Amino acid sequence: MSAIEKILLETPGLEDEPWDVERIREDFPVLKQTVNGKPLVYLDNAASSQVPQVVIDRGSKYLREEHSNIHRGVHYLSQRATTAYEGAREKVRRFINARDVRECIFVRGATEGINLVMHGYGRKFIKEGDEIIISAMEHHANIVPWQMLCEEKGARLRVIPMNEAGELLLDEYDALLNERTKLVAVNHVSNALGTINPVKEIIARAHKMGVPVLIDGAQSAPHLTVDVQDLDCDFYTLSGHKMFAPTGSGVIYGKTELLEKMNPFQGGGDMIRTVTFEKTTYAGLPNKFEAGTPAIASQIGLGAAIDYLNSIGRERAVRYEQELLRYATERISAIEGVTLIGTAREKASVLSFIIENVHPHDVGTILDQEGIAVRAGHHCAQPVMQFFKVPATARASFAFYNTKEEVDALAHAIEKVIEVFS
Ligand code: PLP
Repeated sequence: MSAIEKILLETPGLEDEPWDVERIREDFPVLKQTVNGKPLVYLDNAASSQVPQVVIDRGSKYLREEHSNIHRGVHYLSQRATTAYEGAREKVRRFINARDVRECIFVRGATEGINLVMHGYGRKFIKEGDEIIISAMEHHANIVPWQMLCEEKGARLRVIPMNEAGELLLDEYDALLNERTKLVAVNHVSNALGTINPVKEIIARAHKMGVPVLIDGAQSAPHLTVDVQDLDCDFYTLSGHKMFAPTGSGVIYGKTELLEKMNPFQGGGDMIRTVTFEKTTYAGLPNKFEAGTPAIASQIGLGAAIDYLNSIGRERAVRYEQELLRYATERISAIEGVTLIGTAREKASVLSFIIENVHPHDVGTILDQEGIAVRAGHHCAQPVMQFFKVPATARASFAFYNTKEEVDALAHAIEKVIEVFS
């Protein structure tokens, strides 16, 4: 069963209550503005999503009433801040269904989460001649750290290829897995193509060979439901700013047994048990990986964003987003001169496209004049652009607060672009 089918089929009564998108939009103050005299149409959610009022309020409550440092203080404010911060960690645990709250390490985002594993696990356990498998559709955040590690250690990076639709070739993956493979690191959902990868299957095949798997969940946490125990992934990372929380928030999940045997990431305060000039011993999980003062307000905001997602019904949001993506795919692909990049059977949120004879940057600029925010560029996935032989794409990416009317506005603006360049 595919990831989407699992969510839709296993949640009873999803169709009973229609999605009241106008009600939902009320929760997001940023959406109420005009840009260049037009109502803002925000379709850059894969880069950063918007923040609901309840999350803004929770962050400002910390700044107004609780602002102080965590863990180290015995005074009232510090204890309140610590309770809020650790409360957010428990919300994360439930959100991804981790077994133990100590498996949820706060980081600044997915990039930092992957780098933490590269330094803590990779530098300790990966040796000369070993191999790391990634996929052809990774974000640079899940390519460059592994390349750096391979260079340092004399290890080899192997890449699971994809087909023209932007789907991974699992037979080729099987052929890459061997006794030299020491880690597999793949994204759950591609930010450039929208493909939902069959990560459960990818993990199961790696585990048959005893190989741990890191899932880059930057694009799946906001658009799917995630259960790290069901996936059985060894590491899973997410970015708060892509799931309705402030920038600077994020998580790397890791199985206890792996986190415990890893090296710390950064050294400093809060990650130690004892320090002498001769030797330092490290704190237990999760503190061992959280040196220095973290982004307290942002992580508390992530907890509030999770509360918000639970309150609106995550499965219902997934269902609505799938409907919207289907509508947008039909509407935009019907425009002559437009080619979609990324046509996998299972997709989430993302519609990448090119327009014949128009550079994507010009598309982005003209759409902005219409008040429509899309991303134009390589989306930090240059190998994907090289595969499709395009310099860049324009990318519209959706959230559960976007509407069919906004898709229509996008379609009209694209037609305008084509007119300007014809
Ligand atoms: N991985 C994927 C799939 C992404 O889409 C992104 C950001 O776009 C990242 C990793 C990096 O996330 P961050 O910039 O929050 O560290």
